[in-house]
Amino acid sequence: MNEARKPVIVVHGGAGTWHSERRQPGLEGVKRAAKTGFEILEHGGSAVDGVMEAVAVMEDGGVFNAGYGSSLNIEKRVEMEASIMDGRTLQAGAVGLLEDIKNPVCLARVVMEETDHVFVVGEGAEKLAEIFNLERKEPITELRLKYYEKQRKALREGKLQLPRLADLIRKHPELFTLETVGAVALDKEGNVATATSTGGFPLKLPGRIGDSPLIGCGTYADNQVGACSATGVGEIAIRLVLAKTVCDFMDNGKTAQEAVELAVDLVNRRIPDTYNSMGLIAVDVCGGVGAAHNSPTMCWTYITPEIQKPVAYLTAKIVK
Ligand code: ASP
Repeated sequence: MNEARKPVIVVHGGAGTWHSERRQPGLEGVKRAAKTGFEILEHGGSAVDGVMEAVAVMEDGGVFNAGYGSSLNIEKRVEMEASIMDGRTLQAGAVGLLEDIKNPVCLARVVMEETDHVFVVGEGAEKLAEIFNLERKEPITELRLKYYEKQRKALREGKLQLPRLADLIRKHPELFTLETVGAVALDKEGNVATATSTGGFPLKLPGRIGDSPLIGCGTYADNQVGACSATGVGEIAIRLVLAKTVCDFMDNGKTAQEAVELAVDLVNRRIPDTYNSMGLIAVDVCGGVGAAHNSPTMCWTYITPEIQKPVAYLTAKIVK
């Protein structure tokens, strides 16, 4: 039995370029999510409940690239993905290729708690949602349609010959809004958990899976060390197994803040010359909070019992 801890929640609303007109709703959105999760923790709720509810609030908000308001793929369709991990048992659940599930993070929890599997995608996941009576909602918003048209226009204007989307992104970073959401928490029992949810990369190929639902890449939690949620270019986090790497740094005695900074530094050193925007949040088992990124911005906040009025930020420690 772990001794009683002070609960902590850290929430992100994505790395990348936050357009000025959307900054305020983003900051308000992460604060609302963190408050929801923290209230659960304060009343003795579990870290898993805290991160799931925090992420669900952001999926419902229409502000972030997750749930309602997800980015469109190159075929103008939404394919959402999400994951959740319980650091107490190392159980995890993940879902992908979802077209209209209102809260992908809740379906990830169903996979974790009601099946023998970790990762279920597409039709199978949609069937599971039906069995467990999860709500459906059309996730496409006016804003995402507007972004989609702009992005397609940029592609049409001579960029179609590009062999890699990375070149396009380098030239037009403003078109690629990375507003994935995530949360990590430590509860009063000393248990940690994490959850991450996304519509994925704008203009992604159909069937593309990013880091967010991949355990160890976008999401990882282990009661012995802490928890981490990633945002940014999923392919980078996958190649570096980044969320688990952050936890490994904590396992080697680093605080949450030191661990996320080391991990972003690793990104910069090991994958320096492609579009490598990444953002990371973490909590360690001592209640230490970590947030770092190499992207221009990252929308995030955190709450501990000492914080009366949470402040949301558009940057954390920028590691260059
Ligand atoms: N990591 C997400 C992905 O690659 C994008 C993001 O963080 O916004 O799908």
